[in-house]
Amino acid sequence: MTAQTPIAVDTKKLNAAMARFPRDRAMQIAGRDALGGGETIERRSPAHGVIVTRVPRGRAEDARAVIAAARMGFDEGPWPSETAANRARVLLKVADLIDRDREALALMDTLESGKAIAQARGEIEGAADIWRYAASLARELSGESYANLGRDRLGVVLREPIGVVSIITPWNFPFLIVSQKLPFALAAGCACVVKPSEMTSASTLHLGTLLAEAGLPDGACNIVTGYGPDVGAPMTSDPDVDMISFTGSTAVGRAAMAAGAATLKKVSMELGGKNPQVVFPDADMDAALDAATFGAYFNAGECCNAGSRLLLQADIAEAFLSELAQRSKRVKVGDPLDPDTRVGAIISADHLGKIERHVKAAREAGAVVRTDGTRLESDGLFMAPTIVADVGPSMAIAREEVFGPVVVALTLKTLDEAIALANSTAYGLSASVWSRDLDTALSVGRGVRAGTIWVNTFMDGTPELPFGGYRQSGVGRELGRNAVKDYTEEKTLHVHAGPRTSWWLPRGA
Ligand code: NAD
Repeated sequence: MTAQTPIAVDTKKLNAAMARFPRDRAMQIAGRDALGGGETIERRSPAHGVIVTRVPRGRAEDARAVIAAARMGFDEGPWPSETAANRARVLLKVADLIDRDREALALMDTLESGKAIAQARGEIEGAADIWRYAASLARELSGESYANLGRDRLGVVLREPIGVVSIITPWNFPFLIVSQKLPFALAAGCACVVKPSEMTSASTLHLGTLLAEAGLPDGACNIVTGYGPDVGAPMTSDPDVDMISFTGSTAVGRAAMAAGAATLKKVSMELGGKNPQVVFPDADMDAALDAATFGAYFNAGECCNAGSRLLLQADIAEAFLSELAQRSKRVKVGDPLDPDTRVGAIISADHLGKIERHVKAAREAGAVVRTDGTRLESDGLFMAPTIVADVGPSMAIAREEVFGPVVVALTLKTLDEAIALANSTAYGLSASVWSRDLDTALSVGRGVRAGTIWVNTFMDGTPELPFGGYRQSGVGRELGRNAVKDYTEEKTLHVHAGPRTSWWLPRGA
């Protein structure tokens, strides 16, 4: 328990929020609502403790039904052969509908996940922008032609939709992450099966209704809800699925890849991270401290990109950590429906327990917990921003994803040591470097093996820039100009023109 004031939630605000969207939702199969066998999953707001949504608990037979619907949508439906102009029109309409329903969508994500409402609003706005970007890429998609192969040969490389795509998403950014996948798969002409996390299904199911309203043909997008082993696993092994687009933990991603290997599915994997923020003495300290605070506690640290590993040059380490501790105490942890809240609730009691165990183990291994390190007094699930210092590179907390409002600090002396330390985990999702010296910034930028390196900034993103991880942070990239191409196959048309001039067997022999 800490000296902080107990967290209070505003019941009036909660009731008003819950009135903004239906509590019960259905799965969507070939344009129809489906309830599966009748069992449901109830989701309680981790901040408020009340049931906020109920979705069907899908089973393997429901997964089979959605996959069959998508297969039919792809093999016989109009979407794969729709013109790029019409595909783009649908995607743009979806973006407008997301804008229209922004508040309701933000409330669904906030109540199911515990994230701060101001942040959720930003995520929905960002998601609409991604749908618009995908619409622009839909019209850009093209193949290649080779007219330089000789008079009698023409080469045409077609880009065709890959087929049926299984899209599996986690709970930490429910609407944003499905929007990093689905619009690009649809822009390519694929048919999709989508499975949101069992804890945060509402906004994805709402998206399904927006797709129908925007005119997406039945069968092009089908949504199943339920637990991973029941419905996620069949989506990774079914022979009718051509590609798996997965975001989640490295452990489940590995299992999904293995399941897809039997039928050699293409995979796109966005997995975990243990992202270093490297700070040198010549940095703009105020900016670096602000980014360190944001990077550690944004989305309560439940973020693949969290700047969860501070690598501080030894000369500045103590001053940096003292100031970070002061700032950490100023971070407003509380009711996620309060627009001033920065850190909302932790996703589940199990997960909160896991975060606490990580901190306890670090303390036992000799690390020093500089702030709090415990849950906060409340009926909901809240944890105080926590700094763990004097961490050695071999400690579990320096290598494993904690996925909570916990930042660890390690010190270093030289630039080479900084790069080696940054590369010392199995992950490689992102990193940041803080220095005014161009050589230092570029050396870290080029030396660290991660999919995104931020230089004097943190967690900036835009759909134009690719996102993904090295090593055990993932396979492939999302977003960026190739985002639609990822959901295509290349087909070579090798055309012979004019009379045949070269014969394998002598003619007339
Ligand atoms: P998770 O791996 O537990 O679950 C992700 C999804 O997979 C859920 O929908 C879950 O139901 C499903 N699933 C579970 N078992 C499955 C199985 N056997 N087969 C198929 N699907 C299965 O992850 P989580 O706890 O929901 O999310 C947190 C993790 O996601 C963290 O590790 C985080 O780093 C990662 N993440 C990565 C990114 C990124 O872009 N790199 C973004 C967000 C989250």
